[in-house]
Amino acid sequence: MADGTFYVTTPIYYVNAEPHIGHAYSTIMADVLARHHRQRGEDVWYLTGTDEHGDKVARSAAALGRTPREHADALSARFRALGERLEATNDFFIRTTDAGHVAVVQALVERMRAAGDIYKGSYGGWYCTACEAFYAEDDLGEGKTCPIHGTPVEWLEEENWFFRLSAYREPLLALYAERPDFITPSHRLNEARRSVEVSLEDLSISRSQIDWGVPVPWDPDQVVYVWVDALINYYSALTYARPGEDLASRYWPADVHVMAKDILRFHGVIWPAMLMSAGIEVPRRLAVHGYVLKGGERMSKTTGNVVDPNPFIERYGIDALRYYLAREIRFGEDGTFTAEGFEARYSRELANELGNLLNRVTSMVERYRDGAVPADPGGDGELAGAVEGTVATVVAHVDALDLTRALEEAWGLVRRLNQLVEERAPWTLAKDPQRARELDQTLYSLAEGLRAVAILLWPVMPGSCERIMTALGQDPAEVALAAAAWGAGRAGARVAPADQLFPRVEEEAA
Ligand SMILES: [Zn+2]
Repeated sequence: MADGTFYVTTPIYYVNAEPHIGHAYSTIMADVLARHHRQRGEDVWYLTGTDEHGDKVARSAAALGRTPREHADALSARFRALGERLEATNDFFIRTTDAGHVAVVQALVERMRAAGDIYKGSYGGWYCTACEAFYAEDDLGEGKTCPIHGTPVEWLEEENWFFRLSAYREPLLALYAERPDFITPSHRLNEARRSVEVSLEDLSISRSQIDWGVPVPWDPDQVVYVWVDALINYYSALTYARPGEDLASRYWPADVHVMAKDILRFHGVIWPAMLMSAGIEVPRRLAVHGYVLKGGERMSKTTGNVVDPNPFIERYGIDALRYYLAREIRFGEDGTFTAEGFEARYSRELANELGNLLNRVTSMVERYRDGAVPADPGGDGELAGAVEGTVATVVAHVDALDLTRALEEAWGLVRRLNQLVEERAPWTLAKDPQRARELDQTLYSLAEGLRAVAILLWPVMPGSCERIMTALGQDPAEVALAAAAWGAGRAGARVAPADQLFPRVEEEAA
């Protein structure tokens, strides 16, 4: 960030199930960060993609009569399509089956081995012979049975390659102590620290009973553990995304890894230790968010408790979904997705507060000033100061990764402008020719304030904000944060009232 570049990632999504709104949430929030930093004129790189190896994928594929590769291709395409639908501006979409990624995984584990951190050891787990796979204790059925076959599993040990993770106890504790903002919110940093303090055991980083994975370069009978393979994507993508360009020296270390709290240990403990071992700089920050809950529970394929974002996009538009998630699910905490809550925010905030404000401003400029926004008579210093203050506050909240607060601050300006309409009552001013200057001031201030609002909300609702700019007679591409400065708008703009920004959505037939 300090060097003018900003590199942000989402987790890569595991291709053993269809995408749902939890995936959409991570992608949207990382996109908000990417867009905001582009507004600041930074050189931004935004990465997302899919995690495609491992026995779960191989088994899901087999159940569907597909090869793992066919299955990964099909599911990866679904995640890619969702990203496009969400209007995510990722610069690359990584797949862990990419040859470029596989090569870097092998090179990186070789570096860890050269550092003396890899050794051969014995790994034990619950094994199903029919599946030819190990299961974690938590995944087992009643009475220690295979979750697929329902038959008893057996405890099996195999020779694996281990990473000397325990040797990184002190370096990790030093990292947390020196960089208190390494993981946000701060209680997640404490959680990572506690887990390291309590116990940090060596990690098995290979499997011998699986073949759908990256072969261990010095022992091709084994594949690299799928999590180790997956984490390396954040670094590997930079090495081959743009052939001939050295993106690693330009963007690494990553500025922000966005993720849900269940994968904190992988990102906050294992990943930095792997990088330290390989002699690569650790990422700057991890932004850990909560779960998008449905009916008080986490969405998951296992429970079938999932929300498909597509019907909401079709009904309300993508910006409404982006806005609802960014606003309703406080970034860093769990939040609940409900259709009622969505509808309420849509009609109360988007349609009434923002959509109506735009309508009122453009129609008053048309009616009272023949469609031309008046020049600034220069009497609204307080509002100008409020806009400037809001821009600074939004930037500070985004820098603190408090994305919901940033949105709330920007929304405060929407409410202030609505208040201004009521206080100044332009329809009254328009009746008195003596008060023409006051009317000019009011119309100018509303148009200029709304332009700043459009710039501040653009990372969350890009399409709608560009429509606001166009309706105000401004260049929809002028969304740089610097352009939010009071008075920076195009002078003598002519409004171009458009259709409703957030049209009324008919009640769904029951
Ligand atoms: Zn089985």
